[in-house]
Amino acid sequence: MQRFSATAGQLNSDFSRGQPTHMARFIFITGGVVSSLGKGLASAALGALLQARGYSVRLRKLDPYLNVDPGTMSPFEHGEVFVTDDGAETDLDLGHYERFTGVAARKTDSVSSGRIYSNVLEKERRGDYLGKTIQVIPHVTNEIKDFISIGEDEVDFMLCEIGGTVGDIEGLPFFEAIRQFANDKPRGDCLFMHLTLLPYIKASGELKTKPTQHSVKELRSIGLAPDILVCRSEGPIPAKEREKLALFCNVRADSVIAAQDLKSIYEAPLAYHREGLDQAVLDAFGITPAPKPKLKRWEDVADGIYNPEGEVKVAIVGKYTQLEDAYKSIAEALTHGGMANRVKVRIEWVDAELFDKEDAAPYLQGYNAILVPGGFGERGTEGKIKAAQYAREQGLPYLGICLGMQMAVIEAARNVAGITEAGSEEFDHEAGKKRFEPVVYHLKEWVQGNHTVARTVGDDKGGTMRLGAYNATLTEGSAVARIYGTTQIEERHRHRYEVDTKYRDQLEKCGLQFSGMSPDGRLPEIVEWKDHPWFIGVQFHPELKSKPFDPHPLFKDFVRAAKDASRLV
Ligand code: GLN
Repeated sequence: MQRFSATAGQLNSDFSRGQPTHMARFIFITGGVVSSLGKGLASAALGALLQARGYSVRLRKLDPYLNVDPGTMSPFEHGEVFVTDDGAETDLDLGHYERFTGVAARKTDSVSSGRIYSNVLEKERRGDYLGKTIQVIPHVTNEIKDFISIGEDEVDFMLCEIGGTVGDIEGLPFFEAIRQFANDKPRGDCLFMHLTLLPYIKASGELKTKPTQHSVKELRSIGLAPDILVCRSEGPIPAKEREKLALFCNVRADSVIAAQDLKSIYEAPLAYHREGLDQAVLDAFGITPAPKPKLKRWEDVADGIYNPEGEVKVAIVGKYTQLEDAYKSIAEALTHGGMANRVKVRIEWVDAELFDKEDAAPYLQGYNAILVPGGFGERGTEGKIKAAQYAREQGLPYLGICLGMQMAVIEAARNVAGITEAGSEEFDHEAGKKRFEPVVYHLKEWVQGNHTVARTVGDDKGGTMRLGAYNATLTEGSAVARIYGTTQIEERHRHRYEVDTKYRDQLEKCGLQFSGMSPDGRLPEIVEWKDHPWFIGVQFHPELKSKPFDPHPLFKDFVRAAKDASRLV
């Protein structure tokens, strides 16, 4: 029975199970010792390497926390919320998965304990369990296993990352579910990869293997034996430690993979390949001879990132500036834009609240471009409005994303169109302000495909925004039509408020062009200042679709404009 032939891409002819299509092989990625070791990145890089060997992949994240999804979690707590085309609000690791594999994530690629339990309880209320006592095993674990196997006939490899670290109480049902899952599958169809830390003790000059040994012991106590150990360490792992790890953790020596700190995350696929990760995975599955990898894409990416010919400085004027993960995809998309222009993009985080009440100029001088990202709530918005004004008046490239577009419109209304009381219902409502012009209003109804979606102010906060991919039509001859090279685009959204077309004529007369609209012409998607070198506000999140090997056109051109601006200084 040879389901995986030497050459990838012939898998569909496999009838070994009497099924017309092949089933995926599963790779489960767990973490131990400490969190934040880069499990998501390791998973994404492995996905990219398997693609480089010619296989199709899908990556999934299973998160043990009890929120139903990260949509309502503060970016301070959890980092950015990554939105999929089909409108799911997911973990930022799904952003890594997309950036490394180019495979668009779906709703069914992210799940939390909260979602699992909520499904189970819903079924219980419906009477689906026919009066049985509902228990973690088998009801919760079955729900998890059902989730893991969604679309298993679509790809060669399904990579499932379990959030958190082994030993966490919330994680147990997930670990138990993957143990059962591997048992339900034919032998050799599932592989376990465990990511740990090898701390370096300076005084003795040693890399310590004991925490990893304990972590593996913990895994084995719940019935899981890792096939591959990925060990984060500051330097290379000497042969002695490697052998020790292999012996005590019961893995093969060539399955102990070093993951050293890298200057750029985009070197990860090449670095893991040099360490033999993809080879170890294919060996563990018994796939011989392994198809040769094609790594040109990643060599080009590494070349772009490590050999810039200049630098531009971009200010991101936001609220969550202490935690860079809150704007993860934006930072990455700027990096991609830099690679396309052969410059390093130096990002500086500027807290908008600093100049809510004072002059913005001293805080914004010296940058080659300004980006105002998405956000929620009133705090810092006056500062963002001033940042838009500064960019408009100084002729500095400005990219406003979602809230950043809304702020640019309020700025235009107040300072150019003479609508001095212009505001957004998002803030003025909350503040109970009496008299204001709602240039940005609460969106109550919109069209999705061929049906209308309706919302009221009192709706639940979770999952009720305008979410996911929507089309927009761009005006011929506009800057954005030139940048995209087309007038039909599709971008991802996540917002509750919207610019009111009531003010369109008044604003356009002043030069703020509504150059992108929803196909029915009702929702402004893009605005741009006509007589400005580069000033664009978008209601959607272009950063979510940018890839290092395929930078998003808006970010590419924004960095180009910043580069031009840097030459002028
Ligand atoms: N708070 C704004 C809205 O809901 C902007 C959202 C965002 O920036 N993602 O419309």
